[in-house]
Amino acid sequence: MAALSAAASAHRLPLAHVDPAIHALIKREEQRQEQNLELIASENIASLAVRQAMSSVLTDKYAEGYPGKRYYGGCEVVDEVETLAIERLKELYGVRFANVQVHSGAQANMAVYMAFMKPGDTLMAMNLAHGGHLTHGSPVNFSGQLYQIAPYGVDPETEQIDYDEMRKIALESKPKIIVSGATAYPRTFDFLRIREIADEVGALHMCDMSHYSGLIAGGQYPSPVPHCDIVTSTTHKSIRGPRGGMILWNNEELSKAINMSVFPGIQGGPLMHVIAAKAVAFGEALQPAFKHYQAQIRLNADALASALVAEGFRLVSGGTESHLLLVDLRSFNITGKVAQIALDEAGITTNKNSIPNDPEKPFVTSGIRLGTPAVTTRGMKEPEMVEIARLIAKALRTPEDTEALHQVKREVMALTSRFPIHEVP
Ligand SMILES: *Cc1c(COP(=O)(O)O)cnc(C)c1O
Repeated sequence: MAALSAAASAHRLPLAHVDPAIHALIKREEQRQEQNLELIASENIASLAVRQAMSSVLTDKYAEGYPGKRYYGGCEVVDEVETLAIERLKELYGVRFANVQVHSGAQANMAVYMAFMKPGDTLMAMNLAHGGHLTHGSPVNFSGQLYQIAPYGVDPETEQIDYDEMRKIALESKPKIIVSGATAYPRTFDFLRIREIADEVGALHMCDMSHYSGLIAGGQYPSPVPHCDIVTSTTHKSIRGPRGGMILWNNEELSKAINMSVFPGIQGGPLMHVIAAKAVAFGEALQPAFKHYQAQIRLNADALASALVAEGFRLVSGGTESHLLLVDLRSFNITGKVAQIALDEAGITTNKNSIPNDPEKPFVTSGIRLGTPAVTTRGMKEPEMVEIARLIAKALRTPEDTEALHQVKREVMALTSRFPIHEVP
């Protein structure tokens, strides 16, 4: 038997041996995820199958171009991988065309903006202070630097989108693209109404469904597809795939501009290992079990909402029609910043979030955003949501009392130990 050279042997050693420092940190993160309650609305827990595809040898392959039209040799296998990802994605949302190469949600939005706008053109999207995303026109993001931004927002009374006001702003500002979708808006969007406004002003309608894409695939949130020219999304939020992005559309006339904008416009080689993991996640999302999972996310969000209200919290817009809740903390006389730190100490992971017309600065805020996708993946149901609301309220009644927060943390660990993420040892 041929003996391996020293270099070849070293190349085959496991991570724990080669890099104990990184290996130990990964183990620590595994333990953190296992013990804590993950309530960040944009996070989820990818399956073992998704993670296996992501850590495969496909990471080694350069595949600039698209299936059948690559710049490199040896692409016959990855061509099949990417084609499978595209076909499954098209079936999942009932669309004719898809691009699965965008590295992230931000890249998906960038590709579409670059394809259909010139610097200086006007982009209309949800006000960041009312729930819009960084890539919807923040002054510190390329979107706010390259384009004029015409933001729309929520009515101060209902805290839901004011479509009459949106139409007025669109008529005045004449945007090239109107973006629906948001990052901290718990309600549904009236995609048809936005389609009508876009048609009236001659704009494209793009939905960024990053947060809602799993719910949409599972039939738990209205689909933007029939009312949009283009739909963008992340692949790692409620849809539960690997970290990445995607773009969907139906009109063949848009295909060249979108695909060229992704490559060679803003990216080089695609991440073939991530595209394989996307294919796995889309395959999972096509199974009947995924519909039940998404239905449970909604049931859990409603249960968490009612239980938080019973504990004395106010919810922005009065409730939720999705997986996410925006909690107004002012009835507890506490800011989002203090709440996030206190909850971290108690093993409950959340993020501070501005509420509409927030009196506090963006780094302080008066709210926290909560979501149910990750705890639902663990198998938690309505009774656990009531328990979580009780633990949040308990922690936020004494946010400065470390001993009390550690008592909550022990209760959190008792709860999470009943819903293991990975195999029970
Ligand atoms: C998360 C999110 C994005 C950005 O996704 P990244 O993968 O972090 O770049 C874009 N738009 C919306 C609405 C999001 O919620």
